[in-house]
Amino acid sequence: MVQHDSLEYPPKQSSFRTHKPSLSEMYRYIFLRFCINIGAFLLLALGLIVILGWYIGSAKLIQILPQFVPMQFNTALGFGFIALALIGLTNNRRRFIKYIGIVLILLGGSTLIQHIFGVDLHIDELFMKHYITTATSSPGRMAPNTALNFLISGIAILIMSTKKIRLSQLLVSSFLGALIMGLASVAFLGYLSNVEAAYGWGNLTKMAIHTSIGFMIAGIMLILEARYLSWKIQQKIPSVVIPLILSVLGFTITICLWQALYSTELYITNQYGIKTRNFVAAGILIFGGLFSTVIAIAVWFAIRSREQLQSLKLAQAEILILNQQLEKMSYFDGLTEIPNRRSFDETIEKELARASRYQHSIALILFDIDYFKAYNDHYGHQMGDYSLQQVAHAINNMAQRATDIAARYGGEEFALLLPDATLPDAEKITKMALLAIANLSIPHEKSKISSIVTISAGISVCVPSIDTTIEELILHADKALYEAKSKGRGCIVATMF
Ligand code: GH3
Ligand code: MG
Ligand code: MG
Repeated sequence: MVQHDSLEYPPKQSSFRTHKPSLSEMYRYIFLRFCINIGAFLLLALGLIVILGWYIGSAKLIQILPQFVPMQFNTALGFGFIALALIGLTNNRRRFIKYIGIVLILLGGSTLIQHIFGVDLHIDELFMKHYITTATSSPGRMAPNTALNFLISGIAILIMSTKKIRLSQLLVSSFLGALIMGLASVAFLGYLSNVEAAYGWGNLTKMAIHTSIGFMIAGIMLILEARYLSWKIQQKIPSVVIPLILSVLGFTITICLWQALYSTELYITNQYGIKTRNFVAAGILIFGGLFSTVIAIAVWFAIRSREQLQSLKLAQAEILILNQQLEKMSYFDGLTEIPNRRSFDETIEKELARASRYQHSIALILFDIDYFKAYNDHYGHQMGDYSLQQVAHAINNMAQRATDIAARYGGEEFALLLPDATLPDAEKITKMALLAIANLSIPHEKSKISSIVTISAGISVCVPSIDTTIEELILHADKALYEAKSKGRGCIVATMF
C-alpha cells in the first residue's frame, strides 16, 4: 500500500539546530519544488522519447547522430524510474520510492556485474531487441559508467526513502548526486572535446550523449531533492555542505578527465616527428584540483558571511522588538495593566501646557478606595490585588477621548486626567466611575459605609494660566479627595480654582 502522510517527517530529529523558515524561504522552497518537478518531467520525457524511438525505429531519437552511441532501452527505462522517484520524494510516497531505489540498484548493479565478470544475465534485451549497436559491447547493454550512475542514483534514492529521515542521510544523498553529476559531466565534456575515453571505458559500451545530459539533470535534481527534504524536516543544512558538494563535483570531473586523457594521449608527436610526453593530462589534474579547491573555499566563505549577516540582522530585529516591549512595559503598571505614574506625569505636563496655551479647561480626578487596608486584612492581599485590577479597569474605561488618561497613581489610588473637560463634565464622568465600581459589587464586609467596595473621589478643575503648576492641580484634587473622605467616603468633592 502506498503511504501518504507528511506528518511522518518529525520536525526535530538530529543534533543540528532547528531552523524555522521565513516567508522568503517559503517562496524559495516552492520554487525548489517547481524546479524538481521540471527536472523530473525532463527525465521522464527523455526516457519516454527514447523508448518510443526504439519502438518506432527512429535512430534520431535513439542515438541523435548516426556516429553516436545509442541510448539503450534499459537506460531509458532507468531515467523514467529516476523521474518517478523524484516526484514521489516531493510527495512523500516513500514505500513506492524504496522499490524504485531497489530496481535502480538492481539495474545498475547487474549490468556492472556483467561488465566486470563478463557474464550474461540476460537483462540487456529483456524488453527490447536492440537493432542499433554502435559502440555497444553487447547488444542492449548499457555503458559501465551509465550502470554505475544508476547504481549510485538507486542508493541515493533508497537513502532518502526511509520513514524517518535524518539530515545525515540527506547529506550523503547530496554527495552521491554530485558524484553522478561529475561522472555525467565528464562524459558530456568528452563528447564536446572529442575525447572518447571520457565517455567510454575501454572497449566496453560507451555512454550516449543524451544519457550524459540526463545524468547531469538527475544529479542536480537529487541534490535539490535533498535540500527540499531538509526544509521539510526543518533542519538547516550546515554551510560547509554546498562547498563540499562542489568539491566532490570538481574532483570527480578532474580525476575522470585526467584518467581519460592520460590513457589516450600519453605521448604526442611534434612537427619534427619527435615523441614528447603530453602534459595536458597532468595539467588538467593540477588545474582542476586547484580550481575545485579554490571555488569550494570561496563559496564556503560567501555562504558563511551571508549567514553571519543574516543572523546579525535577526538579532538586531529581536533587540528592536525587545526594546519596544521594554518601552511599553515602562509606561504601564504591572498589576493593573493600566498606565502607570510615569505615563501620568508625562501626560499631565503636556496637557497642562496645552490647556494653558489654548485657554481650555482641564480636570483632574483623584480616586482612593475606601477602607482598603481593612479589605486586605480581611480578604488577604491576593484578593486585594484582584479587586484593585477590577477597580482600575472600571476607572480606565472612563478615559474615553484620545487625550484622556487614567493611571495608577499610588497603592490603591488612581488618577483620571480629562483635558478640555469642564466641571459638569468631570462630575458626570466621576459619578459614572463610582457607579461602575458599585456595579462590580465586590463584597467588603469590613467597610464601615457599605457592604461592597466603594471609592472616594476629589475633582479639581481649572482654566490654567501660564503660572498654573502641576502641583497646584494635584494639590486641589488631593484636598478635595481628603474632604470626600472626611465627609464619610464613597462620595465626590469638586473644586474649581
Ligand atoms: P481609606 O478609606 O482612608 O482610604 O482607608 P484605607 O485603608 O484605604 O487607607 P490606607 O491608605 O491606610 O490603606 C491603603 C491600603 O492599600 C494599604 C495597602 O495594604 C493597600 N494597598 C496598596 N497597594 C496595594 C497593592 O498593590 N495590593 C494590595 N492588595 N493592596 C494594596
Ligand atoms: Mg490611600
Ligand atoms: Mg484608601
